[in-house]
Amino acid sequence: MPEELLLIPGPVSLSPEVRTEMGGPARAHYGGDWTERYRRLTATLATIFRTRGEVFCLFGPGTAGLEACLASALAPGDEVLVGVNGLFGERLAAIARALGLRVHLVTAGDRRPLSPEAVEDAVRRHPRARALAVVHHETSLGLLNPIADLCPLAREHGLLTVVDAVSSLGGVPLEMDAWDVDLCVGVSNKCLGGPVGLAPVAVGAHAREVIEDGRPKAAGWYLNLATWRRYADQWGAWHPHPTTMPTQAIDALAVALEAIVARGLEAHQARLAAATARIRDGLRELGFELVVADGDASPVTTAVWALPGMDVDDYLAWLRRERRLRLGGGLGELAGRIFRVGTMGEAARPGVVDAYLSATAAYVDQMRRS
Ligand SMILES: *Cc1c(COP(=O)(O)O)cnc(C)c1O
Repeated sequence: MPEELLLIPGPVSLSPEVRTEMGGPARAHYGGDWTERYRRLTATLATIFRTRGEVFCLFGPGTAGLEACLASALAPGDEVLVGVNGLFGERLAAIARALGLRVHLVTAGDRRPLSPEAVEDAVRRHPRARALAVVHHETSLGLLNPIADLCPLAREHGLLTVVDAVSSLGGVPLEMDAWDVDLCVGVSNKCLGGPVGLAPVAVGAHAREVIEDGRPKAAGWYLNLATWRRYADQWGAWHPHPTTMPTQAIDALAVALEAIVARGLEAHQARLAAATARIRDGLRELGFELVVADGDASPVTTAVWALPGMDVDDYLAWLRRERRLRLGGGLGELAGRIFRVGTMGEAARPGVVDAYLSATAAYVDQMRRS
């Protein structure tokens, strides 16, 4: 039976080159040659974040990176504004609350992006807030928040800006420094096309000052960027991170990044966006309505309303069984009402998009005839 191909919004199916590297030799996570490999990786990641700041590659899921950022910069009792217009915004707020932060939500209309007006209003109502945390690509809806507008506005008001770019880093245009993002979190296994297990975190100059200002913070030891900074400084020549690292995953991510660099970051993004554009057009031709308007939609994930009378679970199960293609379902209150198609990794190959659209055409045809 052929392997199942993932068209979910992460994790992604891996290229043959990345898979081969995952099966490579175990290495020591220290020593001069290892340190050189790790530094090359973080330097390449910095070019993808578009920052002159420092990048740490945390061993964990994207959530570990988000928790580390909030916990390293803020202390229990600190006030923080959190943008919420979907499940991952809610998750960000939950992480902040679990750390003992006082969360003030910034919200948007149903399935709409967060607006600068909403941020401005929240800043006025909560003048003691220290930070704004916001999701770039709200993956539960396939919707982009305009962080290029929100973060400069927050910085103007003296707030630290924390961006969840877990599902956008590498796949969606993002300018960490130019957009006044202080702390930014990605993940290996979404638009970078790498394996599960690594969460790159980028720390800008202002964030670095805050992390090292000596004020006690919510963080413990491992998910504390001050710890990562200390190891980079004091053990930098030999062991530039606090703990053992998943060396195969790091080598495999390096191979995935080489492919992006060889193609060019813009060309990589254009390739994912072209696959998503074809999926949007193809599904509309089949009669589907899309959840998010074109102007706000993610170029790497599309959320789609079920057709009248369509059983989403049956459709998803049929695609897996008959065509070995796996899509994402709806999350939370959208479960059973929508499905989501991601083009973050191997799913962006033109042959895959064609196979998916023709499979869906066959399913819809069969559904209409029965
Ligand atoms: C996938 C995702 C996460 C969570 O990533 P994990 O690696 O599962 O921790 C967080 N935020 C966004 C926007 C995501 O898409």
